[in-house]
Amino acid sequence: MITRHFGIPVTSPGAILRRERDLGTPLGQETAEVLRSGGLVSDKIIIELIEDWLRLHGGHGFVFDGFPRTLPQAESLMSMLTKLRTALDLVIWLEASEKTVRDRITGRLQCGECGFTTSSSSAQFANRPVCPYCDGRLERRNDDDLGVLQTRLQEFRTKTEPLRAFYKKVSVLDRIDGNRDRDAVFSEISRLIEDKTPK
Ligand SMILES: [Zn+2]
Repeated sequence: MITRHFGIPVTSPGAILRRERDLGTPLGQETAEVLRSGGLVSDKIIIELIEDWLRLHGGHGFVFDGFPRTLPQAESLMSMLTKLRTALDLVIWLEASEKTVRDRITGRLQCGECGFTTSSSSAQFANRPVCPYCDGRLERRNDDDLGVLQTRLQEFRTKTEPLRAFYKKVSVLDRIDGNRDRDAVFSEISRLIEDKTPK
């Protein structure tokens, strides 16, 4: 939605790794098991992916979804941006309760081809699970098993939660209530991006 609305390229390490896995690359195979179990892929791998992506696509602004997730990742991002002489305009902390996360995980469908995601409660897709953009098949993500949620929450508390203090210190953190519907969250994110965009 952000790419369509603002023309800013968005990436997430999860999407890159799922594509690598589907292509059967060594990296994809190496990380598939970690993703399946709900763990975090090593900082070294994630940082390399992001560096490559920035080199290819990061020239005119970018959005990372689900990166950085750890302090070492955040510190590497700082030095990458320093090298690129680019400032970090905005960090959004999307806060959602465990119940919200649980409900979303059980109801999420994703296009195997282009990564479009939607909810299985959306009537349009319930009967005919076909992507509206590329006609790819919409399927439940493998790593969306509720059984891995506890591992993810544990990883979040120990490795991601400290980023809140880190980014508060550099004063670019905006908190958004993620327990609302997609449109409400999107319009708040849009407002934050618009405030940062040079007029
Ligand atoms: Zn698609």
